Amino acid sequence: MRTGVFFHSEFSVKDWPIIGNKFRNFPEVMQQALFLEGVTLFESKPASEEVLLKVHTRTYLDEVKKAWYYTGASLAVGGCVEAAAKIAKAELINGLVFSVAAGHHAGPSSGGGGTYLSCTGPAIAHVRDTFGQRRFAILDTDSHHGNGTRAVFQDDPDVLHVCFCDDDIVEEEGTKIDVDVGYRTTNEEYLENVRNEFFKRVREFGPFMIFHNLGHDTNELDYGDRGLTQLFFPRLAEEVKKCAEEVCEGRYIIITHGGYLADVAENIFPRIIEILARP
Ligand SMILES: [Zn+2]
Ligand SMILES: [Zn+2]
Repeated sequence: MRTGVFFHSEFSVKDWPIIGNKFRNFPEVMQQALFLEGVTLFESKPASEEVLLKVHTRTYLDEVKKAWYYTGASLAVGGCVEAAAKIAKAELINGLVFSVAAGHHAGPSSGGGGTYLSCTGPAIAHVRDTFGQRRFAILDTDSHHGNGTRAVFQDDPDVLHVCFCDDDIVEEEGTKIDVDVGYRTTNEEYLENVRNEFFKRVREFGPFMIFHNLGHDTNELDYGDRGLTQLFFPRLAEEVKKCAEEVCEGRYIIITHGGYLADVAENIFPRIIEILARP
């Protein structure tokens, strides 16, 4: 096995906060990609309370558990934790994890913007505690600032977090970065920004694994429109995959984030699986 795709049928039958029902035609639209050699579809399992409490406070977790979207959020985190563990065990090289109601706006005791549990937080904590690996890099190319991810790892020098959003900030000895990408960027300008601001840093940083919060709300006409087109996302995944092959033996996890346009999701995620599956 090379590439794991983590999905649950629950994701396709509900209208989720912010992203809506963009996964309504999944996993069917990925069918051809899922038949490629080396690709395995996994049914995401709920995250255990134990792994969630490595990041979230008990009080906050108890609050989120009461919400209707908790099941989806827990399955998203569970998929991410399992993908990271399988990659750490070398059962997989890379993965695409589908997420609803969980992601980069969720911090230890807060959530919002459609995400209420952290994905990277529990996954990184689990790999650290189980396999002893310390250093990780997180690339965030959703349109919005990954405030929750930043809050989880703010004081953690072993996590490089490079977030493409609205400010130019370099903090914590160069491990916490924000890059202002503007609202009228082109595919090529954005890619050049990722090469300069992420690839250079990640090569020096030397993480065990790269996580990628990949929102497509940056696509033209979506709610975080930055002027990008659908061609951008597979190209981005291809370049980050190459970078991961160079710095961490290809260990790379993409976590779906914002964007509500179903046609964009249906176009880009099968293409991204094809790229991840390529030897
Ligand atoms: Zn967003
Ligand atoms: Zn940011």
